[in-house]
Amino acid sequence: MTKPHVLQVGPYPEWDQTPLDTAYTIHRWWEAADKDELLAKVGPEVRAIATRGDLGASEAMIAACPKLEMISVFGVGYDAVHLASCRARGIKVSNTPDVLTDDVADLAVAMLLSLVRRVVPAEAWVRSGDWAAKGNPPLTRKVSGTRAGILGLGRIGAAIARRCQGFGMQIAYSARSPKPGAEGWTYIPDAAELARNCDHLFVALAATPETRHIVNADVLKALGPDGTVINISRAANVDETALLDALEGGHIAGAALDVFEGEPNLNPRFLSAPNVLLQPHHGSGTVDTRKAMGKLMRDNLTAHFAGQPLVTPVAL
Ligand code: NAP
Repeated sequence: MTKPHVLQVGPYPEWDQTPLDTAYTIHRWWEAADKDELLAKVGPEVRAIATRGDLGASEAMIAACPKLEMISVFGVGYDAVHLASCRARGIKVSNTPDVLTDDVADLAVAMLLSLVRRVVPAEAWVRSGDWAAKGNPPLTRKVSGTRAGILGLGRIGAAIARRCQGFGMQIAYSARSPKPGAEGWTYIPDAAELARNCDHLFVALAATPETRHIVNADVLKALGPDGTVINISRAANVDETALLDALEGGHIAGAALDVFEGEPNLNPRFLSAPNVLLQPHHGSGTVDTRKAMGKLMRDNLTAHFAGQPLVTPVAL
């Protein structure tokens, strides 16, 4: 039996690559010197695209595959997939929700603690000899008992909120509607109002045209000079120019960021901005979770080619 043709947009770990190569005829888009030539040659045969959340599938890529039936995303965010093309042609999309939630929430809280308790500068203080030469580093601020604002109480936002509760923090949140199970947490739908009522603003929104730059100059002003921003969602949810202006002007206390416009080539202003913690988009980056994500990405392909419903379909 001929194996279905699958266009693979970026590399996966060997534990996913080997089973993919066994089950499908894989076309490696990212390795092609001339990507247009590859698409022109194999596009007419391609029935599925296997991609990652950060890579997605462009309008031109989808258009080059007239027999495309489904796109399996390794990652929960599918904002880089050209959804309008999928809707227009009835192409199914799957992602990998839930299995990565704990890791991303863990990192978000680690980022808050590292930023506010200045863990990285304190480490540098020890290594540089400043501790012996100058004495103790400057005092930091207390995290326990402060107020967390969760912008987007979805799967990851709720997991962050539960962790923050363990630190005795008060929880306020936004979403498109109040959430059942969030009793004791305050629903504040407006982003600026949420920022005004918290010390630490976690950005955990899906990235959509409506949420683009939702964290803007007004929200940062409302957060104030003692407030911090922690973004583990997508860079597009934050107006980076407004954020850099606020950091450089001391209008907020600091920012911890796992995602950047144009990553991995971030705006160089971040490298010299005061009180930032910069992370390389690795919220889900543990062996355990990446294995679970890979399995789910492959299970969706398997289900599709077996004529069964997708395991974790995206509602288009
Ligand atoms: P989710 O369960 O779909 O939650 C998304 C949240 O965004 C929901 O609370 C939703 O509100 C809210 N939202 C969507 N559109 C909105 C709008 N226009 N106004 C206000 N709120 C809106 O997603 P998730 O699995 O928690 O993922 C959250 C984010 O993390 C995504 O951006 C994802 O790409 C990112 N992520 C990052 C990493 C990393 O490595 N840093 C890893 C995984 C995921 P409703 O519930 O009311 O619809």
